[in-house]
Order: sequence, then C-alpha cells, then structure tokens
Amino acid sequence: MSLFNAVEMAPRDPILGLTEQFVADPNPKKVNLGVGVYYDDNGKLPLLECVQKAEEKMMAAHAARGYLPIDGIAAYDAAIKALVFGADSEAVKSGRVATVQALGGTGGLKIGADFLKKLNPTAKVLISDPSWENHRGIFRDAGFTVENYPYYDADKRGIDMDGMLTALNTAPAGTIVVLHACCHNPTGYDLTAAQWDQVVAAVKARKLVAFLDMAYQGFGQGIAEDGIAVAKFLASGEDFLVSTSFSKSLSLYGERVGALSVLCQNKDEATRVLSQLKIVIRTNYSNPPTHGGQVAATILNTPELRALWEKELAAMRVRIKEMRGALVGKLKEKGVQRDFGFITQQVGMFSYSGLTKEQMVRLRNEFGVYGIESGRICVAALNSKNIDYVAESIATVVR
Ligand code: PMP
Repeated sequence: MSLFNAVEMAPRDPILGLTEQFVADPNPKKVNLGVGVYYDDNGKLPLLECVQKAEEKMMAAHAARGYLPIDGIAAYDAAIKALVFGADSEAVKSGRVATVQALGGTGGLKIGADFLKKLNPTAKVLISDPSWENHRGIFRDAGFTVENYPYYDADKRGIDMDGMLTALNTAPAGTIVVLHACCHNPTGYDLTAAQWDQVVAAVKARKLVAFLDMAYQGFGQGIAEDGIAVAKFLASGEDFLVSTSFSKSLSLYGERVGALSVLCQNKDEATRVLSQLKIVIRTNYSNPPTHGGQVAATILNTPELRALWEKELAAMRVRIKEMRGALVGKLKEKGVQRDFGFITQQVGMFSYSGLTKEQMVRLRNEFGVYGIESGRICVAALNSKNIDYVAESIATVVR
C-alpha cells in the first residue's frame, strides 16, 4: 500500500485558480483585477529603474555568492530599521530592534509566528475580518488558534471600530493581534490616526502583542505617512513586531525580499531575541538568498537610487489614486446612480467595490472582468486602456 494513499487533495488557492481561468479565457477584452500585483499603465509588471541601476552596479562588482549570515545582509537589515522606525529614532540608535532579512513579507510573518509560538505556546491569534487569507494559514500552521476581530462594516462601508475595540478589550493577555499597518488587504480601508490611538491603547491596556504587517509601505499615502501605526506603537513604549515586504514597493515579487523586526525594551533583550530568530531561520532554510536583498540594500543605501525609488514609488501611488478617481467618474458618466465615491476613500492596491458575488460572477462570465467574489478588485491593475471597458461592464451588471 502506498504511503501516500490517504493523502487528500488540498483545496486550490482561490486567487491562483482565478488567474488560471483568466489565462484560459479567449475574450480579447479580458481584464484581470483578481491579482495582488501593481501593473503600469501599459498593463505591464514594472521593472523599476532604481532596480535596474542597482543591478547594473551589482553586475559590475562581479561579487561571488557565498552564504549570507543567517539574519541576512547587515546593510539590508540596517536599512530596514531606518525605513521602518526612522534612522534617528531612539529605538534604532539604542540597538533595541532585532531585524532579520526574510523571504518576502510572508517569510517575515512566518519567522515571527514560529518565534512567538515558542515564546507563548498557548496564545491565541486575532486577525482582521476579513484579512489577507494567508494570515490565517501562517498562524494556524505555526500551531496557533486563529480567530477574527471585526474590521469591515459592509453597511457603513468602513471600519467597525466598536466591534474591533470590543474584541481587543476582551482578548486574554498575550493574545497576538495581527494588524495591517497600511493599505488594508482586501478592503482598502485603513484606520485613522485617532483610531490607531484607540487600538494602541487597547493593546497596551490588555497586554496584547501587536504584530504589524507592513506589506505596502509607500503605496497608500507616502512612506512616512504609511508608517503612522509603527510610529504610534513605538511611542507607546510597548514591544511589538513588524513584517516588511518589498514585493510591491520595489516590484520585486519573485525575489522574495522582506524582513521581520522585533522591537524590544533594550539592546540586551534584542540580542537575545535575534539569537532566537536566527534559530528559526537556521532550521527552516538556513539563510536568505543574496540577490533581492542586495538590490534593496543598494537602493536604500545609495542616495541617488533612494531618491529615484521614492520618485518611482510615488508615481505608482499616484497612478493608483488616479485610477480610483477615474473609475468613480466613469461609472457616473455611464449613468450609474449608485455613488461609488467610497472607492476614492480607500487606499492601497485593493478596493472592496461593494459589488455582490452575483455581480462579480457576471463580470467574469459575461465580460471577462475578473475580480474576487467578495467584491475585491485590484485597482492597481486598472489602466487608461482598460478602464472604460471595466466601467462599462460594472455599469451593466449594477443596472
Ligand atoms: N501581507 C499582506 C497583507 C499581503 O497582501 C501580502 C501580499 N499579497 C503579504 C503580506 C505577503 O507579501 P510577500 O509577497 O512579500 O510575501
């Protein structure tokens, strides 16, 4: 009998399944708004100029490819600390941040999850309802019980702040709370500064553990503006964790460039935490790959390239905002009565469009416009060529 006879077929990833369906669709006008990827106005995945320049520099250096240290490239980790917490912050200067290079934002979350599981095996994890689905999987497979905290209020088209605070205020001490630092995926609704104050206060009062997922820094309002949640947790004096991803902000999806940072009370604590993070990495994949981290470190640590990156990042951010405005305007133009103005209040790559499952299915089957059945669309996949068709298709299904 085969050892694997009893292995069950795992469910397909719903978003990847949608992409396969999209690829097979013969409709020449088809548009894929299901992905979580930024495309430029020509519908192409950009290779940023700052990345090309960094790679040229790296190629010219003809560096050998030895193993990296377990925690990654030192200059990369230093650049992450400066980016996330501020180069001049007391936390960075005093050495109380432990940062490791990770395999994308997913890797940062996973290292953090494994570390926290060893530290507090009985803790519960709370994720937002709804959330990026992998949050549940990552923490569940690290051995945690994962529950939701209310986040999205469909009737109000916004955040269920009372529900969220009630969940935090009744959670047992030690509960790990996964928070989207900016550009909430999938809804596009972020907390305001005042709402962050309330969340930080609840986390502090209840002795919860905040784990900020920062997968889109610079895609919402700006690099500094998108760091508001980190800044507020930093000011609170609490310990917390932050995962970082450059998948979107450097358009380096396949290079798996990310990090985990753990904010500790002092340098001695950070040294011990770092030693434990290194064990998690060592026993999983030993050490991270060289290329993506070196690209990011070169960009962040070279002033001209850093300036170029900020310019290119701003252009991506502005284009997404323009597409939000254009979609709302075109829906109006096409005689849609319903006010879709809320789409311009959302931030980041995604929008909870408010469209029903039936409408999303019609968009896909009748028009080749692919979004998630929850109504989530990727605004960063809209462009000046497909937006008319998308708006017309939406107008038809909401009529
Ligand atoms: N967190 C959130 C909220 C995300 O949307 C994503 C990517 N879609 C990630 C983490 C993971 O990013 P990465 O691809 O860098 O692993």
